[in-house]
Amino acid sequence: MAKVSLRSGALHLRRTAAGVPKFCLGARNSCYGATASMRVVRETDHLYRLTRIGMVNNFLVKENDGTGTLVDTGLPGSASAILRAARQVGVPIVRILLTHAHTDHVGSLDALCNALPKTESFIGISEAPLLAGLFSAYGCRRGRRPFGFLKTRSHPKKVLEDGDMVGSLRTIFCPGHTPGHAAFLDTRDGSLIAGDSFTTQMGVVVAGVYKFYFPFPAWFSWNSSAAAESARKLTLWKPLRLAVGHGLTIQNPHGAMERATDEALRQARRTG
Ligand SMILES: [Zn+2]
Repeated sequence: MAKVSLRSGALHLRRTAAGVPKFCLGARNSCYGATASMRVVRETDHLYRLTRIGMVNNFLVKENDGTGTLVDTGLPGSASAILRAARQVGVPIVRILLTHAHTDHVGSLDALCNALPKTESFIGISEAPLLAGLFSAYGCRRGRRPFGFLKTRSHPKKVLEDGDMVGSLRTIFCPGHTPGHAAFLDTRDGSLIAGDSFTTQMGVVVAGVYKFYFPFPAWFSWNSSAAAESARKLTLWKPLRLAVGHGLTIQNPHGAMERATDEALRQARRTG
């Protein structure tokens, strides 16, 4: 059985430049600090986790040429904190990838595109209509009516197909939480940025599997059966690290992903 461990270490106290004490969860040399609105944690040489209100994650991926790819844009009102974090770690954002079009993942897209007009943005081809507020293509045919989306003024000019590469990140379609959800695998170090296809807030859980203490991903998931199948697909990639939209990053997650996938498949069979 694969060993599961959290990269982040013990809770410890730091002080900001202004001398204000802040708690950070993570190894001392990996925690870049925390403000009232954003915590920045260096997960690997390439991967930074930007966390707001303790449970909403975006990720900043440093490419080999030093440029940055931001994966998801967080809640509305996150742009200035994201830009400050990118400056703090010295990784300029030149690309934005979106895992899916829920409000807590695209909420600051417009503000970031305004602030960084040369930035390229990307989203999966099946998710793009949802970002534009076009839900009729999905309706109720295969899952619940999609909800929790934010119609943005900015629209990525580039749409992604399964397998497309953006820098070091491979696009892996994983529909279920939303109809066109995508995850991104860093081919350099095996980090899987999984969006909401998995969460780790209450252990490793597949989208659509209800957990009493953290029910939101299940409430907002479109098709639990598709989510379970996509979880199996992602698990087969055997990522070395699971980075999610909600919860801490998990090292060596394969065994936990398999168990979570089995639970999701059982639930999908029960509910038909
Ligand atoms: Zn979501």
